[in-house]
Amino acid sequence: MNFKKSQKLYNKGLVNLVGAVNSPVRAFASVGGNPLFIEKAKGSKIKDVDGNSYVDFVLSYGPMILGHRHKKVQKAIEKALKNGYSFGASTANEIKLAKIVCDAFPGMDKVRFVNSGTEAVLSGIRLARAYTGKDKIIKFAGCYHGHQDSLLVAAGSGLATLSLPGSKGVPEGAVQNTLIANYNDLDSVKAHFDKHDDIAGVIIEPVGGNMGVVVPQNDFLKELKDLAHKNGAVLIADEVMTGFRSKFGGAQELLEVEADITCLGKVIGGGFPVGAYGARNEIMENVAPLGGMYQAGTLSGNPIAMAAGISTLTELKKQNPYEKFNKIAEEIEEYLLSTAKKYAIELSVNRFGSMINPFFTSKKVTNFEEAQTSDTKKFATFFWEMIKNGVFLPPSQFEAWFLSSALSDKDLKKTKQAIDKALKAVSEM
Ligand SMILES: *Cc1c(COP(=O)(O)O)cnc(C)c1O
Repeated sequence: MNFKKSQKLYNKGLVNLVGAVNSPVRAFASVGGNPLFIEKAKGSKIKDVDGNSYVDFVLSYGPMILGHRHKKVQKAIEKALKNGYSFGASTANEIKLAKIVCDAFPGMDKVRFVNSGTEAVLSGIRLARAYTGKDKIIKFAGCYHGHQDSLLVAAGSGLATLSLPGSKGVPEGAVQNTLIANYNDLDSVKAHFDKHDDIAGVIIEPVGGNMGVVVPQNDFLKELKDLAHKNGAVLIADEVMTGFRSKFGGAQELLEVEADITCLGKVIGGGFPVGAYGARNEIMENVAPLGGMYQAGTLSGNPIAMAAGISTLTELKKQNPYEKFNKIAEEIEEYLLSTAKKYAIELSVNRFGSMINPFFTSKKVTNFEEAQTSDTKKFATFFWEMIKNGVFLPPSQFEAWFLSSALSDKDLKKTKQAIDKALKAVSEM
């Protein structure tokens, strides 16, 4: 396997792009080497410009849940293209996607489409403040909510990968209303409510996915919601990653807690830039043009993106792959653990629905601090050995692997063989 063309493109890309990437998570900063350049993808597989083919567990960081270029989605996009790409006016498909999304989330009467998860969350935060008339927001260490100023502290995803505590260029004033708590630690949230009486909301990934997969323990989410409500704050579920990944709808429903405001992205655009935030009528009526909270977007509800979203969610509902996801994730978990044992490697695995990843640590990982005990050098060796054996993973210890419904038994077999070789390589480090 060689990466000559990728290497060449990387060097060329460095001239006019920053680090040759348009999102730092795509850089191979923590695993070494150069990022792969992709030529195309189909179903469960992705192919780089050197012609190497991989089983894809990145799936564009979540959106490609049906696998790449699903026939029905492709057809819907091609059909939409024929009518025009953007109008700056309403279309019937926006209503259609809104209904699919609202029907899937019990706590959502109305939804507003935006163009990314970042936009969805920054609007959801603004809405929490508009609705409560308060300023402060509690977030959890290791959760990532997009790159808006106020939440770029103690964040997961690329910041965790690059070991950055926050971002330069964020003024102190922008984060002075942000309070940090620890995932699965209700007391750390209580301490903030005891000290501050102007907390508008608590934002959380109902299942953490940006510090690796971290699952809420016991009744953490329910108690969190009760605590927020007791203090006149709202619960904001950032389901940009988890939405439609573990059930048709939200992780909140599976975990039996209904958030006040829900933020979505990734899967709902089927690979196109779509985000959304939604809530009960009483809350959404604060948004312009019904209310005084302003939020707008030239390309919001883009017709091609709506067509991709509708066809993806319609097919997803029909396939209902969630039981299959659980079974595959369980199989991968068992294989990872038994193979790690065979090679005497300390490994801990977390999963939820179609999200899974191993941590190179002996600790059970329930928060950011525990996730950070992982040996990222071991992960780097593991990552490259997986690549060399035809499996494409996110190039970071702190990103979830995603499953697509296009995964075949053959893909799984190939993945297991790669895992065996990769863990063996780790044991020989
Ligand atoms: C990916 C992600 C975001 C940001 O979405 P973008 O589309 O990258 O702006 C926000 N929150 C969570 C939980 C995410 O996983």
